[in-house]
Amino acid sequence: MDCLFCKIVSGDIPATVVKKTDSITAFKDITPQAPTHVLIIPNKHFENMAEVANADADLAGQIFKVAGEIAHELGLKSYRTNANTGLEAGQSVFHAHLHLLGGRSFAWPPG
Ligand code: 5GP
Ligand code: ZN
Repeated sequence: MDCLFCKIVSGDIPATVVKKTDSITAFKDITPQAPTHVLIIPNKHFENMAEVANADADLAGQIFKVAGEIAHELGLKSYRTNANTGLEAGQSVFHAHLHLLGGRSFAWPPG
C-alpha cells in the first residue's frame, strides 16, 4: 500500500520522531500550525481514529495517553488534540493520526 505515514513508520520517509513504541510513532508535523505540532499515529495502518477505536480500543487510548505524555514532557499545561475524519473534515492523510497542538492560545474568543 502506498501510504505516506506507513513509510514514516518504516523509516522509508524521514521525519522528526519524538517518541516511538512497538505500537505508536509520534513525529513533528511538516507544516506546524502551532509552536508544538506533533502527529501521533498507530504503527499499524488504519484509515482514521474511529477505525482504530473500533478495532482496538486500547490502542486508541494509548494514542491519547502518548499525547498527554509528550505534552507533559514539553511542559504544556494546555494543549489541543484533534483527529480529522474524512475529506470534508480536512483529513488529507488517510492513515489514522491524532494532532497534538500547543504553545499558543486556541481560546475563542481570543484573549
Ligand atoms: P490531516 O490533514 O490529514 O488531518 O493531517 C495530516 C497532517 O500531515 C498535516 O498537518 C500535514 O502537514 C502533515 N504531513 C503531510 N505530509 C507530511 C510529511 O511528509 N511529513 C510530516 N512530518 N508531516 C506531514
Ligand atoms: Zn498507512
